[in-house]
Amino acid sequence: MVHTETSTAKKTFADTMEKFIDLCSKRLPDDVYAKLKECGEAEESPMQKVIYDAYFENLEQAKKMNTPCCQDTGLLHFYLTAGTGFPWLDVVEEGLREATRKATCSVPLRPNTVNWFEERNTLDNTGERMPWIHWDLVPGNEDLEVVTFFAGAGCCLPGSSRVFKPSDGYGAIIKHVFEAVSNLGINACPPLIVGIGLGHNVENAALLSKKAYLRPLGTRHPHPKGAKLERDILDGLNKLGIGAQGLRGNRVTLEVNIESSGRHTATIAVAVNVSCYTHRRGVIRFYKDLTWEILTHKGATL
Ligand code: SF4
Repeated sequence: MVHTETSTAKKTFADTMEKFIDLCSKRLPDDVYAKLKECGEAEESPMQKVIYDAYFENLEQAKKMNTPCCQDTGLLHFYLTAGTGFPWLDVVEEGLREATRKATCSVPLRPNTVNWFEERNTLDNTGERMPWIHWDLVPGNEDLEVVTFFAGAGCCLPGSSRVFKPSDGYGAIIKHVFEAVSNLGINACPPLIVGIGLGHNVENAALLSKKAYLRPLGTRHPHPKGAKLERDILDGLNKLGIGAQGLRGNRVTLEVNIESSGRHTATIAVAVNVSCYTHRRGVIRFYKDLTWEILTHKGATL
């Protein structure tokens, strides 16, 4: 009996996630679409206007033709915030793998996942530790929130993490961010969402930078100095004169978000992670009876 309940729950969860992956591959979340509109309107050059018109035409065609809005559907990442009281924790990972496998066929998604040591494409976007799944547990809660993200290659290229000595100064961190965006940002189809992690070593800063760009646009770091740093870096990056698709323009970034943690007295670490204009980030919340609510795409149905 328990076995049947678990199998049914896994199927329900996987089927819902397959449909949610489909939605997120074809339609941008509301906050990203609105921010993209705002940035397009801030551009003045005829070339920038042509590019933004092409971006919106592309998004419109994706909707009409029911097809992904970029050919690089990336690698699937799932960031989970799970209540310890959510009754179906055991089926989540297998359900996400199943949803990824099925969505690769049904959406369809480009098979992008390659096994490192065999140099072989797995053809269904699953494989060693893929899809990428990250868990955060919340005691005393019964819901599961799933952030779905499509990590395209162009967006991954500018990512980098460095650990400095405090004697290098906070300026070293700012320089690192500006170098990452100005050297490789154009690979990621600007305007970009720039996530910055401030911590004490490489993996802690890298994880924070990822969480930073998954944050809803328009939210600010809770510390006033962190919020000011976000605004200052955003303004500074936009003065580089890089616009959409790396051509001259007023906005290389849609948004800059920072996440931070305590640091060691003797280290300052920074990581940068960027995402592109097709920032395919979707958030869905499951309740304990596996009913769900989509938080990022208003009016969407599955
Ligand atoms: S950077 Fe983004 S929009 Fe550009 S090709 Fe990659 S996934 Fe597509």
